[in-house]
Amino acid sequence: MSRYFTEKLSSLTPYTPGEQPKDMQYIKLNTNESPFAPSKSVSDAVLSESQKLQLYSDPECVNVRRELARVYGVDINKVIVTNGSDEVLNFAFMAFADQKNPLVFPNITYGFYPVFAQLNGIPYTEIPLKDDFTIDINDYIGINKTVVIANPNAPTGIALTLGDIEKIVASNPNNVVIIDEAYVDFGAQSAVSLVEKYENLLVVQTFSKSRSMAGARLGFAIGCESLIADLNTIRYSTNPYNVNRMTDAAGTAALKDNNYYMENCKTIVKNREWTVNELQKLGFEVLPSKANFVFAKCDKIDGEELYLQLKNRGILIRHFNKDSICQYNRITIGAIEQMQKLIDEITLILEEN
Ligand SMILES: *Cc1c(COP(=O)(O)O)cnc(C)c1O
Repeated sequence: MSRYFTEKLSSLTPYTPGEQPKDMQYIKLNTNESPFAPSKSVSDAVLSESQKLQLYSDPECVNVRRELARVYGVDINKVIVTNGSDEVLNFAFMAFADQKNPLVFPNITYGFYPVFAQLNGIPYTEIPLKDDFTIDINDYIGINKTVVIANPNAPTGIALTLGDIEKIVASNPNNVVIIDEAYVDFGAQSAVSLVEKYENLLVVQTFSKSRSMAGARLGFAIGCESLIADLNTIRYSTNPYNVNRMTDAAGTAALKDNNYYMENCKTIVKNREWTVNELQKLGFEVLPSKANFVFAKCDKIDGEELYLQLKNRGILIRHFNKDSICQYNRITIGAIEQMQKLIDEITLILEEN
């Protein structure tokens, strides 16, 4: 830290992204990316837009927002797009939380929530999950704070039902409830259908996982017009060109090919069920996942040891150095060949152990 770094941020601990080592070609099962390439119309759209890079992007991103409005059946004024959904989460914290409306989220969840809270000087409470890693919705009923819940949750993969989400939203009418649906396309119920009914609900999604666009950085939120207007106040006060031209075009093309992506999600769900079954045969305990990853542990091997041995063998999975979950690993569900290779290598590791 330089002696110039502002004191108010001197204790900020930044988010740690999943590792991207360059020393060899790994099978990457550590950052929940899609194993499938984007559709051809997406690469064509990017190439074509790249010829116009001398021009600023559309600050309103009308093209991709119009497609989002069509696909999700909402008015275009209920949609905002951002540079990844991380950006809209940050905007939402800035817009809807403060000393008087502190944040609450589970103690085991997406690691960016405490970082954005600290960055913006917002107090927050982490509410413990139950012993089985599920969220007790009673902890959030009428809590009168700004609620953030990833549904499905990460890194557990466990989802709440739409009914439970509605109870949380309905019981906190004086606070915004942010539902982070980064993984919703892999089997959970989306809360987008509740946006018409509740003015305090903000649903956040991303193109990074289910639409093969992690590298393009495109996220979005759906909520009532006034919430979206507030988020736009923040957006126009930070970076009105937050979504670049190629990403706007890529997102638009992806939504026109939505069936391709939803079919890919079905393949991932099938591969997930296969992987869960194989891991269980090897003695793993696997949490019930509705995401494109599973969270699993095995009594026969230490969590970090499994992670390290798989890395030596060219497979990356995600291990978290946090006491309550250090025996677990989060394993992204990829193509079936990748999952077969994972199972083969784990089998060998357990034999040699
Ligand atoms: C991956 C992820 C995001 C955001 O990813 P972006 O690439 O910034 O869209 C948000 N929330 C959760 C829980 C995630 O896992």
